[in-house]
Amino acid sequence: MSHPTEVLQPGDALLIVDVQNDFCPGGALPIERGDEVVPVLNRWIDAARAAGVPVYASRDWHPAGHLSFEEREGPWPPHCVQDTAGAAFHPDLRLPPDTIKITKGARFDQDQYSAFDQTGLADQLRRDGIKRVWIGGLALDVCVRATVLDALKEGFAAHLIPDASLPVTREGGEKALREMREAGAEI
Ligand SMILES: [Zn+2]
Repeated sequence: MSHPTEVLQPGDALLIVDVQNDFCPGGALPIERGDEVVPVLNRWIDAARAAGVPVYASRDWHPAGHLSFEEREGPWPPHCVQDTAGAAFHPDLRLPPDTIKITKGARFDQDQYSAFDQTGLADQLRRDGIKRVWIGGLALDVCVRATVLDALKEGFAAHLIPDASLPVTREGGEKALREMREAGAEI
């Protein structure tokens, strides 16, 4: 396991996926021990700031009655509804003031698991001179998985920070780790 201050360098970005109240214990779609990623990510944030590495943070941001919700025969209970407390970033996550935020899941006609899915993020990272992306957040087997796979498809080196991500199910997490490794992610 690499220590963030030893590995972060110019051309890197830290990408924090969906560390929002609804995905943590007490939220609408809680991931078991999901809040335990927060102190780990805070260490990475501190190291990123010290190294001049930019921090990006995505958020799931659904309109009420989104098609991904069970009431519309989607797979999930209602979660991360726009402007609710559940959609807010975890209060202990120390996002720097200049964090670049990525909003996804706001489309009425489809869900977006990946922070790269129709958000323009890949173009922005290239514009910012980013070659390598360090990724952590929630959930390992859903939005983190999709984000890591898309980062690779877009030509970035992708590092998953394994102790900064937790899955919805253990089985799903193990499968996601295999898929990410096979696709070329460093874990
Ligand atoms: Zn969602």
